[in-house]
Amino acid sequence: MRKHPAWFDTRRLTFRFYSLLGAAVLLLLVLALAGSHLAHRTMSAAAKLSQDGLGGIGHVIELQALLKRHQRLITDISTARNPNLVSATNGSLHDIEVRALALVSRAALTGEIERLVATLFARGADVDNLIEAHTTSANGNAFEAYLSQAITMEAVLAAEQKKRAAASKSLVDGLTLEASRLEVLAIGVLIVGLVVIGPLGLILFSDAIRRLRAVWCTLHQLASIDTPAPVPSLLDADEIGEMARTVQVFRDNALALSRNRNEVEQVNRWLDIALNNMARGISMFDSDQKLVLCNDMYRAMYALPDALTRQGTPATDILEHRKSRIVRVEYETPDTTPGATVTTAAERHAPPLVRPVDGEDSRAPLERFIAGGQMFSIYQYFDDGRIIALANKRLADGSWVAVHEDVTRDRQAEERIAVLAQTDALTGLANRRAFRDDLDRRCAAPGGPKDFAVHLIDLDEFKPVNDTYGHLAGDAVLAEVAKRLQGLVRDGDLVARVGGDEFAIIEIGAATTGAAAALASRVVAATAQPFALDEHWVVVGASVGIALAPEHGHSARDLLSHADLALYHSKQTGRGRHTVFEPAIANEADLQRALEVDLRNALELGQFELHYQPIVDAAHAEVVAFEALLRWRHPSRGMVPPMAFIPFAEASGLIVPIGAWALKQACRDAMTWPSNICVSVNLSAVQVHAGGIAETVAMTLAETGLSAKRLELEVTETLQLGDQPSAREQLLRLKSLGVRIALDDFGTGYASLSYLQRFPFDKLKIDRMFIADIADSRASLAIVEAVTSLARTLDMVTVAEGIETGEHLDRARAAGCVLLQGYLFSRPVPAHEVAALIGRHTQPKLTIAAA
Ligand code: C2E
Ligand code: MG
Ligand code: MG
Repeated sequence: MRKHPAWFDTRRLTFRFYSLLGAAVLLLLVLALAGSHLAHRTMSAAAKLSQDGLGGIGHVIELQALLKRHQRLITDISTARNPNLVSATNGSLHDIEVRALALVSRAALTGEIERLVATLFARGADVDNLIEAHTTSANGNAFEAYLSQAITMEAVLAAEQKKRAAASKSLVDGLTLEASRLEVLAIGVLIVGLVVIGPLGLILFSDAIRRLRAVWCTLHQLASIDTPAPVPSLLDADEIGEMARTVQVFRDNALALSRNRNEVEQVNRWLDIALNNMARGISMFDSDQKLVLCNDMYRAMYALPDALTRQGTPATDILEHRKSRIVRVEYETPDTTPGATVTTAAERHAPPLVRPVDGEDSRAPLERFIAGGQMFSIYQYFDDGRIIALANKRLADGSWVAVHEDVTRDRQAEERIAVLAQTDALTGLANRRAFRDDLDRRCAAPGGPKDFAVHLIDLDEFKPVNDTYGHLAGDAVLAEVAKRLQGLVRDGDLVARVGGDEFAIIEIGAATTGAAAALASRVVAATAQPFALDEHWVVVGASVGIALAPEHGHSARDLLSHADLALYHSKQTGRGRHTVFEPAIANEADLQRALEVDLRNALELGQFELHYQPIVDAAHAEVVAFEALLRWRHPSRGMVPPMAFIPFAEASGLIVPIGAWALKQACRDAMTWPSNICVSVNLSAVQVHAGGIAETVAMTLAETGLSAKRLELEVTETLQLGDQPSAREQLLRLKSLGVRIALDDFGTGYASLSYLQRFPFDKLKIDRMFIADIADSRASLAIVEAVTSLARTLDMVTVAEGIETGEHLDRARAAGCVLLQGYLFSRPVPAHEVAALIGRHTQPKLTIAAA
């Protein structure tokens, strides 16, 4: 469909106004045309009237007057009959005739009247001529003819006059009619103009004005930021509608803007409240380092005068104001500013901070920061003791926001916490973290780690003390160890507690094995001294592993792992000693690891066997029992002693199946011996704690057919009876089977005599440590004697282990030991050699001992 051009849209005001204007112009045009037509008509009528009508009548009247004068002259001549007169009058007559003929032609009286006038003047000339000729008779006739002609003439002219008057009247009538029509037309046009176009125009105009005013009103309200009423005329199709719609858009935008402004104002108010009620100072600077805003706390913190908190105040002015009161500044930075020193946690027990270089103004970092530095956190120390932290964020446009917080209390607490975090609460020594930090720092020093030794110290017998005497006693021992260790080191050395019963020393300046070993021996000696508990003395002892820097490692990791291997070596090789790391130890450790891997398959591969060592009675040196001792026949390493693999078997739980195998094998072997000879089997604490040991033993006895009376189980003090009621129960159940229970290695450290109270052991095996000393140490002898007499009282049999010499034998017997065991009688032997031993010992008895 073809669209109308906009001006042709009948709903538009322009169209309507132009239509009305067009109609008015059209009416005026009609009126003008009618008027001009009438004027034209009037003009031609007037011309006609003047010429034919009124003018014609005038000419006729003038002609009548001339003819009257002509008649009077002719009459005068004819009455006077004087030829002189005629001659005198002739001129006048001639003049009248000329004028009359001119009138005739002017008045268009041609035709009949012209002919009549000519005839009249001819008759007059006849009269004239006759008089001149004195022809009186003829004269009368001529005159008569003239008069008649004159009368006819008069009648004709009168008729003409009448005719012309009538014609004029009809012309005037016609004009009158035209004029009245024009009047009607004018009135019609006026009426149409007044009644239709005018009111329509008025209505249109006033409606448009009214609607425009309504729209203006809305605009006005908008302009005066009043809430505007809805915009009128929105649905109108004309220009006002268009305008209203435009205003509507404008109004919506204005409303949205105003809403936004309200929201922004509200947010501003909230922000203001929030900012000024914050416990932190806030300041914001533009990219020209001029203050944009700040809050009350900021003003208060730095006691800023009003003049310095106005927008546009340069940051340097504000800084200048507070600088006089700042003592020093520290800052955290994402990168280390060249020339600045980084203090480490270990040094200050606080997060790493950068301090200004010596000689530099201690407040200089603040200026560097304002100049666009990268620091993100600054600590300002004020002369009144306050510490104000300034954290800042630079924005992409170069402006920045800074948050200022009084961290005096936090920093103090932080420092306290940092100190605590680096300290072992029990001993007051540095803790593991502090030790590690220190080691890391020394390793990270320029040029690498230099001339120090790392000692790792592990207390040998701490756990039993702790388990037996309780944690308080354990703590007391640890505190005492710490004290002793600190008494051994020089200034600058670091003593730390790095684990439950593990200590470490970083010994400065000890670059050689000899130097480090000197301290380590002092450590071993100091820890070997008994520790006094409330009512007891305990011996703990320690093993030490040493790594030297930089010889044994450049990193904390290497140094620690090498010191650890050395420590492990100390423990493996008898405890109570120190070892300086050497590569062979690492190899040994590797071998140990390989051994542990092999152990997992040893049982399945049948690599275990039992050796037996006789236990003889002190009185007759008769073999009363054999202790079953486990051996591992390793395919490549040969016979591996139990101490080389049992600790790992215990730690890995492998001891449970291995122990069960040993038990069964021992029972089977014992079944081949004389029925008066018993078998002693070692039981690991792990086996008891694992549970089900009584069932295993009962089943083994049932399977092998060995009488429970011939079986003895040896447990050590590592079996916790105090804390573990179930372990005690298991032992009781074993006893109820008829099996005897022996306490092995008695006196090796940890257990107090109260241990004996907790379970009715059948036997006490006095550790060979005491026997070894028995000849030289009165103390050892006294202990052995005390133990035997105690055992007797408690109805327990005593066994002295480690009888190697005759002296041992004599002393042990003298001390009252009931049974004896040791190399003096026999080393542990394979099962097939047991029979021979029985034969040998039962006969010569003490002869060997005597020899
Ligand atoms: P233990 O139960 O105290 O066994 C006695 C240890 O002392 C044996 O060492 C034995 O060879 C050694 N010995 C005996 N007489 C003398 C002597 O006169 N002088 C010296 N220096 N030593 C002597 P072995 O066979 O190396 O066993 C060491 C430890 O291994 C045993 O100490 C025991 O605790 C453990 N053990 C051995 N077999 C087993 C086992 O089947 N199960 C468990 N759980 N532990 C076992
Ligand atoms: Mg034993
Ligand atoms: Mg023993």
